[in-house]
Amino acid sequence: MSHMILSHLQAHDGATLSELCAATGLPEEAVQDILCELSRSGVVVGVPRHHQPPILHAVTTLGECEWCGIIEHHRVAGMCPTCLNKSSGLESLPATYTHATPRSHA
Ligand SMILES: [Zn+2]
Repeated sequence: MSHMILSHLQAHDGATLSELCAATGLPEEAVQDILCELSRSGVVVGVPRHHQPPILHAVTTLGECEWCGIIEHHRVAGMCPTCLNKSSGLESLPATYTHATPRSHA
């Protein structure tokens, strides 16, 4: 489900919780749960605003898509929009995000 949220954030450069609920059709609780996971993975950041709900942004980077290799200016979690839409979000990301393993110094 997280890919729906990430895709929306990637396409819109920020959205509020209620906008994400409307865009995904998921209940607020579910969206909040996913956002919690995403922000813990460092893929989404929330920007607090005065007297208004925080704006959520996907952390985008410039570089090669880790899946198809095209150069993308708004990679989210290392994926271009096409690959992000085809994926199921963080659930199917390469191991680094969900099960980080300590690197050996060898
Ligand atoms: Zn791609």
